[in-house]
Amino acid sequence: MKILVVGGGTGGTIVANNMARRLHHEMKAGKARITMLSASERHMYQPGLLYVAVGRMAPDELYRDQKGLLEPSIEFHVDPVETFDFKENKVITKSGRTHQYDILIISTGSRMMPESIPGLAESAETFYTEESAIKMFKRLREFQGGKVVITVGVPHKCPMAPLEITFMLHDYFKERGLLDKVQIHYTYPIGRVHSLENVAKWAKPEFDRLGITYETLFNMKEVDATNSILKSEEGTEVKYDLLIGIPPHKGMEVIEKNSIGQSGWIPTNRNTLNMDGEFKNVYVLGDTTNIPISKAGSTAHYEAEVVAENVASIVKMGVPVREYDGKVFCFIEAGKDKATYAMFTYNNPPDPKEPTQAVHWFKMAYNKLYWSSVRGIL
Ligand SMILES: Cc1cc2nc3c(=O)[nH]c(=O)nc-3n(C[C@H](O)[C@H](O)[C@H](O)COP(=O)(O)OP(=O)(O)OC[C@H]3O[C@@H](n4cnc5c(N)ncnc54)[C@H](O)[C@@H]3O)c2cc1C
Repeated sequence: MKILVVGGGTGGTIVANNMARRLHHEMKAGKARITMLSASERHMYQPGLLYVAVGRMAPDELYRDQKGLLEPSIEFHVDPVETFDFKENKVITKSGRTHQYDILIISTGSRMMPESIPGLAESAETFYTEESAIKMFKRLREFQGGKVVITVGVPHKCPMAPLEITFMLHDYFKERGLLDKVQIHYTYPIGRVHSLENVAKWAKPEFDRLGITYETLFNMKEVDATNSILKSEEGTEVKYDLLIGIPPHKGMEVIEKNSIGQSGWIPTNRNTLNMDGEFKNVYVLGDTTNIPISKAGSTAHYEAEVVAENVASIVKMGVPVREYDGKVFCFIEAGKDKATYAMFTYNNPPDPKEPTQAVHWFKMAYNKLYWSSVRGIL
């Protein structure tokens, strides 16, 4: 049985390692083989970018060598897929190699699209890539006061990051003694401050308490960089001195080019995680699914555990054993030194509690434990 994993990020690494352990004997006996194809030899811990943007983590702390994170029995190639041929059970890579498979797992992630909003890329700081997070921190250091606008486009990965950066910026300016010279303003596209109702119910009074203003039902239309004005589809305008944008996202270009899903989101069954349609040997996980659920590392993690168990059970017994229930766990940094969390499934909404230092320190510990988590040790 040839199992091919495309994508060496959070989802791909966890699914491959988990399957390799479950199929240890089958792999040793030559009955199963796992190959991973990825676009990079390095693995980035993306949540760390939030801390880079406020000068609390160095960029090199975010990386590990991808091969070193994988079970030695997994064959790994840095050779991105360019063509998916589901009918022939094969993919073709950038180097021109063909890889056949019996089971295919796609976890290629997502990318931000600042260029989809006129003026945004030129005028806004962001923190969703290493380069942009470093640039944002340099800009923050120079900032001496004025109106800071945090604006959010959808869909985007990490549902909590816009709230977290808002709270962290509040404490960053407080620490620098600038709070009385800074007004923090947050815009969000729907009629409340977060897509998850209970998270919005928790965050709104926190914003009020800290003097953070907000405008909901604000869908970014364009940025007038000359006059420093952010405009919404709804016809409102916000003037800014420093603009921080969380741009809308798409799935990866390779998914769009192969016409697998609109805007790079692959139609996926929300319980079995099979790609919708006739090719039942294809699984999808992480950001690239079109499941209307948080695009988060924890989503990819829990989905990967389900897919790994099912693939192993298909190899051993011919049938899958589990379904994904929509489980997600997200920490929410609520400032410099306190945090809360949101845990939820398709049927149970989150219920964030009062932020504490203990949860913050747990998050700081998780920033290191991530590497054990993707290896499957945790
Ligand atoms: C600032 C920030 C903060 C975040 N904070 C959190 C948080 O606190 N908690 C949380 O749970 N999540 C958080 N996330 C989100 C989390 O990082 C992602 O949701 C998660 O990494 C998604 O996993 P994935 O496997 O779908 O994609 P990724 O981890 O992005 O991996 C995609 C992989 O696919 C590879 N690839 C791309 N194209 C190809 C191709 N053509 N062929 C082969 N391989 C390819 C890439 O090289 C990469 O290895 C945050 C993200 C950001 C940016």
